[in-house]
Amino acid sequence: MTSPSAVSAVAPRDTGGPAVATVRRAPGVRMVDGSVLAVALVCAVVGALLPLRGSDSFTVAPVTGVGMAVLLVVLGQLARLRFRIGRGTVSVSWGEAAFILGFGIAPPGWLPAATFVGVTAAWAFLSWLNGQRAIADILRLSSSLTVGAAGATAVSYAITGPASSVGDLRTQLGLLAGAATYQVITLGLAVLALALRRDASAVQIAARAAHAKLPVFAGSVLVGISTLYLLVNAPVWLIALPVILWLLQRAYRHHLRAEEERRIWEAFARATRALGGATEQAVAEAGLHGALDVFEARRVELEVTLSLGPETGADRRYSADAEDVAPGATPGPVITRAMTVGGARVGDLTVWLAEPALPAAQDELAVSAFADALAGALHDAAARERLTLLDAKIAHDGAHDALTGLANRTALLNDGDKLVTSLHRERPVAVLLLDLNNFREVNGTLGYRAGDAVLRIVAERLGQLCREREIIARLGDDEFAVLLPTVAAVAGSATPLHDAPTSVPQALRRAREVIDAVSKPIDIDGVRLVIEVAVGVVVEKAGCAELGELIRRAGVALDQAKALHMAVAAYDSTRDATSTDHLSLPAELLDALTADDQLVLMLQPEVDLASGAPTGVEALIRWNHPRRGLLTPDSFVRTAENGGLLGPFTRYVLDRALRAAAGWAAAGLDVPVSVNVSSRSLLDPTFPAQVAEALRRHRMVPDRLVLEVTESLAVSNSGVVDEVLAGLRELGVQISVDDFGTGFSSLSFVTRVTVDELKVDRSFVQEMADSPSAAAIVRGAVELGARLGARVVAEGVETADQRAALLALGCTAAQGYHFSRPLPADKIIPALRQMADAAPPTIVPLRVDGAS
Ligand code: C2E
Ligand code: CA
Ligand code: CA
Repeated sequence: MTSPSAVSAVAPRDTGGPAVATVRRAPGVRMVDGSVLAVALVCAVVGALLPLRGSDSFTVAPVTGVGMAVLLVVLGQLARLRFRIGRGTVSVSWGEAAFILGFGIAPPGWLPAATFVGVTAAWAFLSWLNGQRAIADILRLSSSLTVGAAGATAVSYAITGPASSVGDLRTQLGLLAGAATYQVITLGLAVLALALRRDASAVQIAARAAHAKLPVFAGSVLVGISTLYLLVNAPVWLIALPVILWLLQRAYRHHLRAEEERRIWEAFARATRALGGATEQAVAEAGLHGALDVFEARRVELEVTLSLGPETGADRRYSADAEDVAPGATPGPVITRAMTVGGARVGDLTVWLAEPALPAAQDELAVSAFADALAGALHDAAARERLTLLDAKIAHDGAHDALTGLANRTALLNDGDKLVTSLHRERPVAVLLLDLNNFREVNGTLGYRAGDAVLRIVAERLGQLCREREIIARLGDDEFAVLLPTVAAVAGSATPLHDAPTSVPQALRRAREVIDAVSKPIDIDGVRLVIEVAVGVVVEKAGCAELGELIRRAGVALDQAKALHMAVAAYDSTRDATSTDHLSLPAELLDALTADDQLVLMLQPEVDLASGAPTGVEALIRWNHPRRGLLTPDSFVRTAENGGLLGPFTRYVLDRALRAAAGWAAAGLDVPVSVNVSSRSLLDPTFPAQVAEALRRHRMVPDRLVLEVTESLAVSNSGVVDEVLAGLRELGVQISVDDFGTGFSSLSFVTRVTVDELKVDRSFVQEMADSPSAAAIVRGAVELGARLGARVVAEGVETADQRAALLALGCTAAQGYHFSRPLPADKIIPALRQMADAAPPTIVPLRVDGAS
């Protein structure tokens, strides 16, 4: 009878531990198992029926022989060794020895049947011992060993022939070949079974199984042949057999364990090298996979109790299951080890072993060592994560308002400026500045906690309104800012990008949305509050905006809104009294007055409406500011008036205007120059003397100078003004009333003071066509001029229609872009000459003789 050494997957048992990921059996498994069983049964039956003769050397009754063969198979199986391959178990039994002995004792044809019965009996006994029910697994094992025995018998019998003696070489060779066949067939079938269950690759399993089995095979054959020899020739010595078997058994076990241990430590080294992750999650995953690999475990669980900081509250659990657990695997022990670093607890590592390969103590030792390595790695990762969190927190706190989580002023300035500079320079950007009107009351009556809650709610509501790329910030107590980088980019709108003014209404609309959202009632501690909010709005092209300045301007608008008790106001530069311009301009203007190239006079001709011949030239000041570019008089004349610079400024303008006029007079053009005089100059009693001095300097005839004065409420009734005007008239210079029609008391002024010219304000000229009252004022001015004997000059004539309308109204002279734009000094002489030449020669420039 034969009982071959076997490689097999062994019976399952539920550990009652966590569910093990079971692998669906490949469809081929069942088929293969069935075929092997069928072949085994056929071999057993056919073999038993074959009339094969047994050995001559040792004769017992055939029934006794078969019985002994069965017994040998049972013993060979019970004395098996088991070891792990993948997550399955391979057992190595004394099958070859049992086969060789059986071949010598029993009729060879019965060996397959004996093997089938023996293996089934042995494993049924073992299963019963372990309290398992695994009939399918037992049948699979016994059938594969039976097929092995059949093959082995066939090969041996073919070599040894019917009559054989243990003593002759041929018999020994035959037995050896049979044992080898047995080995090859059983190993092949076991590898096939394991590979089909995807325990590992077939080559890998075969290599490992062969490696483990080779010495076992050699020993088993040796034991088989020598036992048989002793049985035949010197049965007494069989007494020594148990001792030899026991020693061999020990040696094999040692060999297998050494193998397993080597594999474990190699895997251990690999796994610990992979533990250097940066985050707990990464380390935990590497640890789980490492443990599955090292212990060939079915499942690994990790519970991390280490705190990463105040935010990480609960313990974290990680687990992994082996994907390739053989359904027949005998579950090994469950080992739990605490992970500690320097006495500090990091967590627990639990490993569900697939099969005890090492003695329990050694498995535990390995798990402990792995737990230590994992603890260190987790601890490191936690430290790193804490540092990263801390870094992020520091960065966040530096840029955020602690109460609301919004950006703070610094962040708004940094991020906002970056955002604004990244935009096209023509794209309008807007800043909304919000202030809660009654916040102080909330704080005062409901306390700071309620105040904080209000601020958080406002921040939240702003956040809900915010669109992509917009930045919301809390700037101060109850002050919030919203940066809108895309005010003009409304989907579907054809608003041109550069048309900033069209984006002001849009920004105002957003402001109203904000107000609506923020002022919805808020319930705090049962008190229903309505937060009133005021918003200042500023819109500027991205290329011209520096965020700090935009916020300041939005603040000006906000103040304006509050002063007028309005909810929203847009920035208006003329109301910007706090503008830095106003702070720095006086000093800069003083520099400009001495610099020579910054303040320049532009010269705009006045013409006879009928002929187009020049009747005068108005000097208009410009400031070529080194930083701000070209400034028009509106933005700095008031600075000159208020900054104590009026004297030098007026002298400067007079000087330049008279120098220019002297130039064209020398060129033969008899045209007066008009200089705008600030009404404040009329309060300066020395003004006539300054004018006289300037005329003298440039050797100009006084009546070639026209001083344009704007009568204003402040100066109209002052004695000094009358005195100064009288002094000027005495000098012989002409007086013109500028912006006629806009003043409060134009009529009272002209009746009190003798004037040479009325300049009808351009607003009337421009509205004349549509507005009858504007036309009436122009007509009235013409009539008044005629009565006073003063020229009437219409300002701001831009079209031929306006020119014709003015002519029809009886107006004789005009000024405006229709005739000429203000020109630089070097262009004025050619322009005047051209105008004079183009005019019909009969018409001479109109001139009113003043009292001289
Ligand atoms: P203004 O005396 O009424 O000057 C006429 C303004 O109308 C000028 O603006 C001129 O460029 C502009 N203008 C001329 N033709 C047309 C036209 O066809 N259409 C339109 N829309 N505008 C036209 P500017 O140069 O900006 O001067 C603004 C004001 O500044 C002047 O108003 C004047 O009151 C004051 N100003 C200009 N130069 C001086 C100066 O040297 N000293 C003082 N104290 N004030 C000055
Ligand atoms: Ca003027
Ligand atoms: Ca004017």
